Amino acid sequence: MALDIFQRIHVSLDEKRQNVTEFLETASEVEKDVCLCDDTYCVEDHFHVIDESLEKIENDTLGICEICHGVVDATLLEMDYTAHVCLDHYSEGERRRLESELELSQIVQRALLPQRMPMISGVEIAAFSRPAEIIGGDYFDFFKFRDGAEGLVIADVSGHGVSAGMLMSSLQTAIQTMAPYADSPAEILERINRFYIHNINFTTFVTVFLARFDPITLTLTYVNAGHNPPAVYRSESNDVRWLMPTAPAIGLAEIFLPRTESVILSKGDSLLLYTDGVTEVFNTSNEQFGQDRLAELFLQSTHLTAPNLLQAVLQQSSAFGDNKSLADDLTMVALKISA
Ligand SMILES: [Zn+2]
Repeated sequence: MALDIFQRIHVSLDEKRQNVTEFLETASEVEKDVCLCDDTYCVEDHFHVIDESLEKIENDTLGICEICHGVVDATLLEMDYTAHVCLDHYSEGERRRLESELELSQIVQRALLPQRMPMISGVEIAAFSRPAEIIGGDYFDFFKFRDGAEGLVIADVSGHGVSAGMLMSSLQTAIQTMAPYADSPAEILERINRFYIHNINFTTFVTVFLARFDPITLTLTYVNAGHNPPAVYRSESNDVRWLMPTAPAIGLAEIFLPRTESVILSKGDSLLLYTDGVTEVFNTSNEQFGQDRLAELFLQSTHLTAPNLLQAVLQQSSAFGDNKSLADDLTMVALKISA
Protein backbone atom coordinates (compact mmCIF):
# COMPACT_ATOMS: atom_id res chain seq x y z
CA MET A 1 0.00 0.00 0.00
CA ALA A 2 2.83 2.36 0.84
CA LEU A 3 4.35 1.77 -2.60
CA ASP A 4 1.00 2.39 -4.26
CA ILE A 5 0.59 5.85 -2.74
CA PHE A 6 4.12 6.95 -3.74
CA GLN A 7 3.48 5.80 -7.30
CA ARG A 8 0.26 7.80 -7.34
CA ILE A 9 1.99 10.89 -5.95
CA HIS A 10 4.65 10.50 -8.64
CA VAL A 11 2.07 10.29 -11.45
CA SER A 12 0.08 13.18 -10.02
CA LEU A 13 3.12 15.46 -9.61
CA ASP A 14 4.31 14.70 -13.14
CA GLU A 15 0.84 15.54 -14.39
CA LYS A 16 0.66 18.80 -12.43
CA ARG A 17 4.11 19.85 -13.64
CA GLN A 18 3.12 19.11 -17.21
CA ASN A 19 -0.21 20.96 -16.97
CA VAL A 20 1.35 24.09 -15.51
CA THR A 21 4.30 24.00 -17.97
CA GLU A 22 1.86 23.67 -20.84
CA PHE A 23 -0.08 26.64 -19.51
CA LEU A 24 3.12 28.73 -19.27
CA GLU A 25 4.09 27.79 -22.83
CA THR A 26 0.73 28.25 -24.52
CA ALA A 27 -1.07 31.00 -22.57
CA SER A 28 -0.99 34.57 -23.86
CA GLU A 29 0.91 37.19 -21.81
CA VAL A 30 -2.41 38.71 -20.72
CA GLU A 31 -3.74 35.36 -19.53
CA LYS A 32 -0.51 34.69 -17.65
CA ASP A 33 -0.62 38.11 -15.97
CA VAL A 34 -4.22 37.48 -14.88
CA CYS A 35 -3.70 33.93 -13.55
CA LEU A 36 -0.41 34.70 -11.83
CA CYS A 37 -1.50 38.14 -10.63
CA ASP A 38 1.92 39.55 -11.68
CA ASP A 39 3.75 37.06 -9.50
CA THR A 40 5.65 34.67 -11.80
CA TYR A 41 7.90 33.53 -8.94
CA CYS A 42 4.99 31.76 -7.28
CA VAL A 43 5.09 29.06 -9.96
CA GLU A 44 8.87 28.64 -9.69
CA ASP A 45 8.46 28.15 -5.94
CA HIS A 46 5.81 25.56 -6.52
CA PHE A 47 7.91 23.73 -9.15
CA HIS A 48 10.74 23.67 -6.64
CA VAL A 49 8.52 21.89 -4.09
CA ILE A 50 7.27 19.43 -6.74
CA ASP A 51 10.82 18.61 -7.95
CA GLU A 52 12.08 18.20 -4.41
CA SER A 53 9.21 15.76 -3.70
CA LEU A 54 9.88 13.79 -6.91
CA GLU A 55 13.54 13.53 -5.90
CA LYS A 56 12.49 12.28 -2.47
CA ILE A 57 10.31 9.59 -4.08
CA GLU A 58 13.35 8.48 -6.13
CA ASN A 59 15.51 8.04 -3.03
CA ASP A 60 12.71 6.71 -0.78
CA THR A 61 12.66 9.63 1.63
CA LEU A 62 9.25 11.13 0.81
CA GLY A 63 6.82 10.80 3.72
CA ILE A 64 9.51 9.81 6.22
CA CYS A 65 8.84 11.34 9.64
CA GLU A 66 11.54 13.78 10.74
CA ILE A 67 11.02 12.87 14.40
CA CYS A 68 10.56 9.07 14.62
CA HIS A 69 11.87 8.20 11.10
CA GLY A 70 8.83 5.98 10.38
CA VAL A 71 6.52 6.49 7.37
CA VAL A 72 3.82 9.10 8.05
CA ASP A 73 0.19 8.03 7.74
CA ALA A 74 -1.02 7.48 4.15
CA THR A 75 -4.20 9.52 4.73
CA LEU A 76 -2.07 12.47 5.75
CA LEU A 77 0.10 12.12 2.62
CA GLU A 78 -3.04 11.85 0.52
CA MET A 79 -4.03 15.27 1.79
CA ASP A 80 -0.56 16.81 1.69
CA TYR A 81 2.28 15.04 -0.09
CA THR A 82 4.81 17.30 1.66
CA ALA A 83 3.78 16.02 5.14
CA HIS A 84 6.94 15.06 7.08
CA VAL A 85 5.84 14.63 10.68
CA CYS A 86 3.47 11.90 12.06
CA LEU A 87 0.13 13.09 13.44
CA ASP A 88 1.14 11.76 16.89
CA HIS A 89 3.83 14.43 17.23
CA TYR A 90 1.45 17.32 16.64
CA SER A 91 0.04 19.49 19.43
CA GLU A 92 -3.64 19.17 20.34
CA GLY A 93 -4.54 22.35 18.41
CA GLU A 94 -2.54 21.45 15.28
CA ARG A 95 -4.11 18.01 15.29
CA ARG A 96 -7.62 19.40 15.55
CA ARG A 97 -6.99 21.67 12.58
CA LEU A 98 -5.65 18.79 10.48
CA GLU A 99 -8.50 16.52 11.48
CA SER A 100 -11.03 19.11 10.40
CA GLU A 101 -9.25 19.33 7.02
CA LEU A 102 -9.43 15.55 6.71
CA GLU A 103 -13.12 15.48 7.63
CA LEU A 104 -13.66 18.22 5.10
CA SER A 105 -12.01 16.15 2.36
CA GLN A 106 -14.42 13.30 3.10
CA ILE A 107 -17.44 15.60 3.10
CA VAL A 108 -16.21 17.07 -0.17
CA GLN A 109 -16.15 13.66 -1.81
CA ARG A 110 -19.54 12.57 -0.51
CA ALA A 111 -21.74 15.61 -0.70
CA LEU A 112 -24.12 16.43 -3.50
CA LEU A 113 -23.96 19.68 -5.38
CA PRO A 114 -26.47 22.32 -4.26
CA GLN A 115 -28.35 24.37 -6.86
CA ARG A 116 -30.22 27.49 -5.83
CA MET A 117 -30.59 31.19 -6.59
CA PRO A 118 -30.71 33.55 -3.60
CA MET A 119 -33.60 35.95 -3.08
CA ILE A 120 -32.11 39.32 -2.15
CA SER A 121 -34.51 42.21 -1.87
CA GLY A 122 -33.63 45.04 -4.27
CA VAL A 123 -31.24 42.89 -6.29
CA GLU A 124 -32.03 41.06 -9.49
CA ILE A 125 -29.85 38.02 -10.14
CA ALA A 126 -29.47 35.83 -13.22
CA ALA A 127 -27.01 33.10 -14.12
CA PHE A 128 -26.18 31.02 -17.14
CA SER A 129 -23.83 28.10 -17.61
CA ARG A 130 -23.21 25.89 -20.64
CA PRO A 131 -20.45 23.27 -20.67
CA ALA A 132 -18.50 22.67 -23.90
CA GLU A 133 -18.61 18.95 -23.15
CA ILE A 134 -21.10 16.91 -21.15
CA ILE A 135 -19.33 17.84 -17.93
CA GLY A 136 -17.78 21.28 -17.60
CA GLY A 137 -14.94 22.88 -15.69
CA ASP A 138 -16.82 26.12 -15.02
CA TYR A 139 -18.83 26.80 -11.91
CA PHE A 140 -20.82 29.48 -10.11
CA ASP A 141 -22.62 29.33 -6.80
CA PHE A 142 -24.31 31.35 -4.05
CA PHE A 143 -23.90 30.75 -0.35
CA LYS A 144 -24.06 32.50 3.02
CA PHE A 145 -21.23 33.61 5.33
CA ARG A 146 -21.24 33.05 9.10
CA ASP A 147 -23.04 36.35 9.79
CA GLY A 148 -25.64 35.76 7.06
CA ALA A 149 -24.01 38.00 4.41
CA GLU A 150 -24.51 36.76 0.85
CA GLY A 151 -21.63 34.99 -0.88
CA LEU A 152 -21.10 34.45 -4.57
CA VAL A 153 -18.40 32.68 -6.54
CA ILE A 154 -17.47 32.02 -10.14
CA ALA A 155 -14.59 29.75 -11.09
CA ASP A 156 -12.91 28.13 -14.07
CA VAL A 157 -10.66 25.08 -13.87
CA SER A 158 -7.91 24.88 -16.52
CA GLY A 159 -8.84 21.99 -18.79
CA HIS A 160 -12.20 20.41 -19.67
CA GLY A 161 -14.10 17.19 -19.40
CA VAL A 162 -14.74 14.74 -16.61
CA SER A 163 -11.65 15.40 -14.47
CA ALA A 164 -12.17 19.18 -14.62
CA GLY A 165 -15.84 18.68 -13.75
CA MET A 166 -15.05 16.47 -10.78
CA LEU A 167 -12.53 18.96 -9.48
CA MET A 168 -15.09 21.73 -9.85
CA SER A 169 -17.71 19.84 -7.83
CA SER A 170 -15.23 19.11 -5.06
CA LEU A 171 -14.36 22.81 -4.91
CA GLN A 172 -18.02 23.79 -4.88
CA THR A 173 -18.68 21.49 -1.93
CA ALA A 174 -15.57 22.71 -0.11
CA ILE A 175 -16.78 26.31 -0.38
CA GLN A 176 -20.34 25.38 0.68
CA THR A 177 -18.89 23.51 3.67
CA MET A 178 -16.53 26.28 4.79
CA ALA A 179 -18.68 29.36 4.16
CA PRO A 180 -21.04 29.02 7.20
CA TYR A 181 -17.92 29.13 9.43
CA ALA A 182 -16.10 31.90 7.56
CA ASP A 183 -16.22 35.70 7.71
CA SER A 184 -14.35 36.69 4.57
CA PRO A 185 -13.53 35.61 0.99
CA ALA A 186 -9.80 35.65 1.84
CA GLU A 187 -10.30 33.20 4.70
CA ILE A 188 -12.09 30.68 2.43
CA LEU A 189 -9.59 30.97 -0.44
CA GLU A 190 -6.53 30.75 1.82
CA ARG A 191 -7.87 27.53 3.26
CA ILE A 192 -8.80 26.15 -0.15
CA ASN A 193 -5.36 26.95 -1.59
CA ARG A 194 -3.69 25.31 1.40
CA PHE A 195 -5.95 22.29 1.11
CA TYR A 196 -5.45 21.79 -2.63
CA ILE A 197 -1.90 22.88 -3.37
CA HIS A 198 -0.26 19.73 -1.98
CA ASN A 199 -3.23 17.44 -2.47
CA ILE A 200 -2.16 14.64 -4.75
CA ASN A 201 -5.47 14.57 -6.62
CA PHE A 202 -5.22 18.25 -7.49
CA THR A 203 -3.11 18.26 -10.64
CA THR A 204 -4.04 21.60 -12.14
CA PHE A 205 -5.12 25.13 -11.10
CA VAL A 206 -8.39 27.01 -10.81
CA THR A 207 -9.22 30.70 -11.26
CA VAL A 208 -11.77 31.90 -8.68
CA PHE A 209 -13.60 35.16 -8.04
CA LEU A 210 -15.21 34.97 -4.59
CA ALA A 211 -17.21 37.82 -3.08
CA ARG A 212 -19.22 38.79 -0.05
CA PHE A 213 -22.20 41.05 -0.65
CA ASP A 214 -23.93 43.12 2.00
CA PRO A 215 -27.43 43.93 0.67
CA ILE A 216 -27.91 46.77 3.21
CA THR A 217 -24.78 48.79 2.41
CA LEU A 218 -24.53 47.36 -1.15
CA THR A 219 -20.84 46.67 -0.48
CA LEU A 220 -19.15 43.94 -2.48
CA THR A 221 -15.96 42.66 -0.83
CA TYR A 222 -13.92 40.29 -2.97
CA VAL A 223 -10.77 38.35 -3.72
CA ASN A 224 -10.06 37.70 -7.39
CA ALA A 225 -7.74 34.68 -7.59
CA GLY A 226 -6.51 34.91 -11.17
CA HIS A 227 -10.00 35.05 -12.69
CA ASN A 228 -11.14 37.11 -15.70
CA PRO A 229 -11.95 40.52 -14.19
CA PRO A 230 -15.70 40.93 -13.55
CA ALA A 231 -17.24 44.12 -14.98
CA VAL A 232 -19.06 46.68 -12.83
CA TYR A 233 -21.37 49.20 -14.45
CA ARG A 234 -21.65 52.47 -12.48
CA SER A 235 -24.86 54.30 -13.33
CA GLU A 236 -23.69 57.63 -11.90
CA SER A 237 -20.58 57.89 -14.08
CA ASN A 238 -22.08 55.71 -16.86
CA ASP A 239 -18.90 53.66 -17.24
CA VAL A 240 -17.58 50.16 -16.76
CA ARG A 241 -14.70 49.26 -14.42
CA TRP A 242 -12.96 45.92 -14.01
CA LEU A 243 -12.35 44.04 -10.77
CA MET A 244 -8.75 43.02 -11.48
CA PRO A 245 -7.01 39.98 -9.90
CA THR A 246 -5.84 40.40 -6.31
CA ALA A 247 -4.25 36.93 -5.92
CA PRO A 248 -2.83 34.19 -8.14
CA ALA A 249 -5.06 31.31 -9.26
CA ILE A 250 -5.69 28.53 -6.69
CA GLY A 251 -3.08 25.76 -6.88
CA LEU A 252 -0.24 27.90 -8.31
CA ALA A 253 1.27 29.69 -5.31
CA GLU A 254 2.97 28.10 -2.30
CA ILE A 255 2.61 31.33 -0.37
CA PHE A 256 -0.87 32.63 -1.04
CA LEU A 257 -1.44 36.18 0.21
CA PRO A 258 -4.77 37.35 -1.20
CA ARG A 259 -5.51 41.08 -1.23
CA THR A 260 -9.11 41.93 -0.34
CA GLU A 261 -10.76 44.78 -2.22
CA SER A 262 -14.24 46.23 -2.04
CA VAL A 263 -16.58 48.28 -4.15
CA ILE A 264 -19.72 50.07 -2.94
CA LEU A 265 -22.53 49.73 -5.45
CA SER A 266 -25.43 52.18 -5.89
CA LYS A 267 -28.95 51.94 -7.23
CA GLY A 268 -28.92 51.25 -10.97
CA ASP A 269 -25.42 49.67 -10.90
CA SER A 270 -24.81 46.15 -12.13
CA LEU A 271 -22.14 43.49 -11.96
CA LEU A 272 -21.27 40.95 -14.64
CA LEU A 273 -19.18 37.88 -13.80
CA TYR A 274 -18.06 35.59 -16.61
CA THR A 275 -15.57 32.89 -17.59
CA ASP A 276 -13.19 33.07 -20.55
CA GLY A 277 -15.68 31.12 -22.71
CA VAL A 278 -17.41 34.53 -23.15
CA THR A 279 -14.42 36.70 -24.11
CA GLU A 280 -12.18 34.14 -25.84
CA VAL A 281 -14.46 33.64 -28.82
CA PHE A 282 -12.68 34.13 -32.18
CA ASN A 283 -14.17 35.45 -35.41
CA THR A 284 -13.14 34.39 -38.93
CA SER A 285 -10.34 37.03 -38.93
CA ASN A 286 -8.97 35.39 -35.77
CA GLU A 287 -9.87 38.41 -33.63
CA GLN A 288 -11.01 37.83 -30.08
CA PHE A 289 -14.40 39.01 -28.74
CA GLY A 290 -12.42 40.33 -25.76
CA GLN A 291 -13.09 42.65 -22.82
CA ASP A 292 -13.51 45.85 -24.85
CA ARG A 293 -16.42 44.48 -26.87
CA LEU A 294 -17.92 43.07 -23.67
CA ALA A 295 -17.68 46.49 -21.95
CA GLU A 296 -19.26 48.22 -24.94
CA LEU A 297 -22.13 45.73 -25.01
CA PHE A 298 -22.58 46.05 -21.24
CA LEU A 299 -22.85 49.85 -21.57
CA GLN A 300 -25.47 49.51 -24.31
CA SER A 301 -27.50 47.00 -22.30
CA THR A 302 -27.97 48.80 -18.98
CA HIS A 303 -31.75 49.13 -19.55
CA LEU A 304 -32.12 45.33 -19.82
CA THR A 305 -33.15 43.01 -17.00
CA ALA A 306 -30.42 40.72 -15.63
CA PRO A 307 -31.63 37.63 -17.59
CA ASN A 308 -31.93 39.68 -20.79
CA LEU A 309 -28.43 41.11 -20.30
CA LEU A 310 -27.04 37.57 -20.19
CA GLN A 311 -29.06 36.65 -23.30
CA ALA A 312 -27.67 39.69 -25.13
CA VAL A 313 -24.06 38.83 -24.21
CA LEU A 314 -24.58 35.20 -25.23
CA GLN A 315 -26.13 36.20 -28.52
CA GLN A 316 -23.46 38.77 -29.45
CA SER A 317 -20.56 36.60 -28.43
CA SER A 318 -21.81 33.57 -30.39
CA ALA A 319 -22.71 35.76 -33.39
CA PHE A 320 -19.16 37.19 -33.25
CA GLY A 321 -17.79 33.64 -33.34
CA ASP A 322 -20.05 32.90 -36.34
CA ASN A 323 -22.21 30.62 -34.12
CA LYS A 324 -19.56 27.92 -34.23
CA SER A 325 -19.92 25.15 -31.66
CA LEU A 326 -18.46 25.97 -28.25
CA ALA A 327 -14.73 25.54 -27.81
CA ASP A 328 -14.83 26.34 -24.11
CA ASP A 329 -17.29 26.16 -21.21
CA LEU A 330 -19.25 29.37 -20.84
CA THR A 331 -20.63 30.74 -17.57
CA MET A 332 -22.04 34.14 -16.56
CA VAL A 333 -23.71 35.69 -13.53
CA ALA A 334 -25.38 39.13 -13.52
CA LEU A 335 -26.42 41.17 -10.48
CA LYS A 336 -28.50 44.28 -10.95
CA ILE A 337 -29.24 46.73 -8.14
CA SER A 338 -32.79 48.00 -8.63
CA ALA A 339 -33.00 51.73 -9.32
ZN1 LIG B 1 6.86 10.18 13.50
